[in-house]
Amino acid sequence: MESSDLSDISTTLMGAHHVAISGHINPDGDCLGSVLALASALRICGIRADMLLADDGLPELYAFMPGYRGFRPASAYDGHPDLFVALDTPTPKRLGCSFPVMQRTPVTITIDHHPDMQDYADHSYCDVTAGAVGMMVWDLIELMGVTPTPAIATACFTALITDTGRFQYQNTTVSAFEHAARMQAAGAVPSQISREVYQNRSISCVELEARAIANIHFGDQGRLVYSWVTEQDFVQTGATRDDAESLPDILRSLRGVEVALLMREEGGTIRASMRAKGARDVGAVARALGGGGHAAAAGFTFVGTVDEAIERVVPMLFVGATADADTTAANRFVGATPTQLFAAINSKDTLDVPAPPDTPADPAIPSAPSPAATTPVCPRQVPTTSPASDRNVEQS
Ligand code: 5GP
Ligand code: MN
Repeated sequence: MESSDLSDISTTLMGAHHVAISGHINPDGDCLGSVLALASALRICGIRADMLLADDGLPELYAFMPGYRGFRPASAYDGHPDLFVALDTPTPKRLGCSFPVMQRTPVTITIDHHPDMQDYADHSYCDVTAGAVGMMVWDLIELMGVTPTPAIATACFTALITDTGRFQYQNTTVSAFEHAARMQAAGAVPSQISREVYQNRSISCVELEARAIANIHFGDQGRLVYSWVTEQDFVQTGATRDDAESLPDILRSLRGVEVALLMREEGGTIRASMRAKGARDVGAVARALGGGGHAAAAGFTFVGTVDEAIERVVPMLFVGATADADTTAANRFVGATPTQLFAAINSKDTLDVPAPPDTPADPAIPSAPSPAATTPVCPRQVPTTSPASDRNVEQS
């Protein structure tokens, strides 16, 4: 691998005849928008550009982006490009079915912004300060001498707005806003894109959200929230995998929460998404569990049940836990209902957690410190034991 700058990459691209471009498995707005934008620019230059899907899923959510139907599954792709570009994909594993295409291509490039990007291409460019790969692709397109079209601007803006969480995350830099302004000037319409991405939800998606909310549990004195959705939840609500995308952010949005963990059952494994606000680095935890991502948004796949994932992962998310060690001392609040938890917080962090009047005492929340409290047992709390009104207790 050679660490290249964007102008080297631009030169390499402009010398190609046939380019295949892919993002990562479970594609999101950044990888899909980035691939679309770069493919459009290459075609403007008269270069053949094929857009590959690392797995077979193509989220309908982003179908408003011009050219979207041009994506094709890499698993069925038999082309022989002379150049392969991986966007927003830090590891070969995340390239899924596109990796064999990369392996049979003579020259390869990666452009990424993940801190854990591996060296797996001939030319690599990684800018961890970029809010989205869509920003880097925008700069690359300018270096290629292409005037961005409204379609390119729409794709890049979609990449930027989704990866910065609508300009809310810590990666929302001055440069992110400057790029957004240039994209809007080139024809991206922020209100339309926001409407497509954020005001276009199915009722199934909202019903899935209700399931995740019903399963909410807190730990680490309210700094940690975790929840899950099962395969049955998907069947019963009619929700798709993409409908689960918004769930981790809903958990993180809770007051006092610093780390959120959302688990999704998928064919005998658990797909876990973590989100942090503040200084916690969930990327390190994800890497310790074989996954990866950013400090504030990361994920991994866990082989086992939801209960096993809770037992393994939740203690790693407590303040003071190291990424690769179970920390159980603070585990006493795992499984607490909001009522119990806030009662504990308001009683100066002692372990005297009174049971709500209409709820039987939960053996997972001991009433006094005891050696048993250090056992990493993380039972589920049956949500119906806590009235809905209990969930909205104000922290004074
Ligand atoms: P999400 O929770 O939305 O699936 O992912 C959040 C972030 O973590 C994204 O940047 C995504 O690329 C990264 N990520 C999620 N799962 C994995 C994984 O299994 N491996 C690696 N390397 N990164 C992941
Ligand atoms: Mn990205």
